Amino acid sequence: MHDACGVVGISLSDTTANVSKQIYYALYALQHRGQESAGIAVHDGKVIRTHRGMGLVSEVFDEAQLGLLRGNVGIGHVRYATTGASCIENSQPLMAKYKDGAVAVAHNGNLINSRELREELQAAGDIFYSTSDTEVMAHIFVKELMRHDLVEAVRGMMRAIRGSYSLVMLLGDMVLGIRDPLGIKPLCIGQVESGYMVASESIAMDTLNGRLIRDVRPGEMVVIRGGEMTSYQLARCQGPNYCVFEYIYFARPDSIMDGRLIYDVRVNIGGMLAEEHPADADTVTPIPDSGITLAVGYHQRSGIRYKECLMKNRYIGRTFIMPDQSMREAAVRLKMNTIRPNIEGHELVLVDDSIVRGTTSRRIVDMVRNAGAKKVHVRIGSPPIVAPCYLGIDMASREELIAAYKTVPGVEAVINADSLGYVSHDGLVKAIGIPREHLCMGCLTGIYPLEIPGEKCQVAQTKITEYIE
Ligand code: AMP
Repeated sequence: MHDACGVVGISLSDTTANVSKQIYYALYALQHRGQESAGIAVHDGKVIRTHRGMGLVSEVFDEAQLGLLRGNVGIGHVRYATTGASCIENSQPLMAKYKDGAVAVAHNGNLINSRELREELQAAGDIFYSTSDTEVMAHIFVKELMRHDLVEAVRGMMRAIRGSYSLVMLLGDMVLGIRDPLGIKPLCIGQVESGYMVASESIAMDTLNGRLIRDVRPGEMVVIRGGEMTSYQLARCQGPNYCVFEYIYFARPDSIMDGRLIYDVRVNIGGMLAEEHPADADTVTPIPDSGITLAVGYHQRSGIRYKECLMKNRYIGRTFIMPDQSMREAAVRLKMNTIRPNIEGHELVLVDDSIVRGTTSRRIVDMVRNAGAKKVHVRIGSPPIVAPCYLGIDMASREELIAAYKTVPGVEAVINADSLGYVSHDGLVKAIGIPREHLCMGCLTGIYPLEIPGEKCQVAQTKITEYIE
């Protein structure tokens, strides 16, 4: 199961403080990372209470619900709509009770050896409540904790699990933030008025009027307890492998990730696109919202005027009633409408971040042509997506990825563009400003930082993880 998610953990030093509202706001800020389910777990000094539900943060929680989650330490999670099992059992934080207490776990990432670990545990008689790999981690962690102290238990769990994980755990009155040795998924540390927090993106800190301190290092665990934060470097690799798709699409432009403002990265990518794929056009326009910052970069570098040509309706919720055939056209226009006078008679550069199946680009090229565009040059802020992600982005299967079986001219024909240009691998790496060997570009190259069990994939360079005693 591929889980792209948002996680947060906050510990306030004041034991009378109520953390659930802060977690709620942080989850609101992280909502773009997952809309399928949301949950919060809070420790009140004695026990952990959780509330989880399907839907958006605003649908899952109300004032009364938050009032029941009393305590000064807690964690939260939003889960992405995935192709895998969509059910309440797989929503998080997952809570497990064990002999000496309880632990709640919120996970962003994907374990590549969770099936074999689950089979081993089941063979030994363990029973499972969900199909998520998070539950596998909880089992392993608790078993380790029965025999070792906290630090050794986490190290033991990290030795067993492979893949991407940015984990936030609530263990008694402690919040733990753990990032996998390759640092594939993001996780950062911040300071709030009377405590510390960890979250997937720095915007969670901004929302709480807090301050980003730094990213959790690959292989590091931070423990926040009673207003103090302690760091343990548990594992070390020869360099990280940050997920490239966070920079291209997933993270919000106002987030600072591994030292870089995502907005700046995307403006750079747009500029690179303008250099690599100039176009004879009079207007640069984004596919909203994902193409906006890239289009700004293209406009700045090319000098071609920037003008919005498409308007997205931001109020289409998950409860949107799917129309019957006769209303399908109306439904499409309800989600996205053209600004006809900005389009009619113009030659457009239409910018988006990525083409996955090709449906969005094709539909929008048709829309702007129907609105009178003379030419439509499509420019994409990622190289072709040629392979699935096994490490935490819910992308699509190989069969669904249009660029996995079509050349650039082939894709250009399918989406009905006058020209199509993708940013190059080198251009992308330069725009991000992180050495190529420190990025995971599996979806763009089919070469992954780890061997993927059961898949015939290439591995970039075997990085040895050293566990530090
Ligand atoms: P498609 O229509 O299948 O080609 O998907 C491309 C569109 O989906 C682009 O507009 C992207 O902004 C967006 N997109 C890219 N990756 C993802 C993802 N992992 N989940 C949801 N949307 C995505």
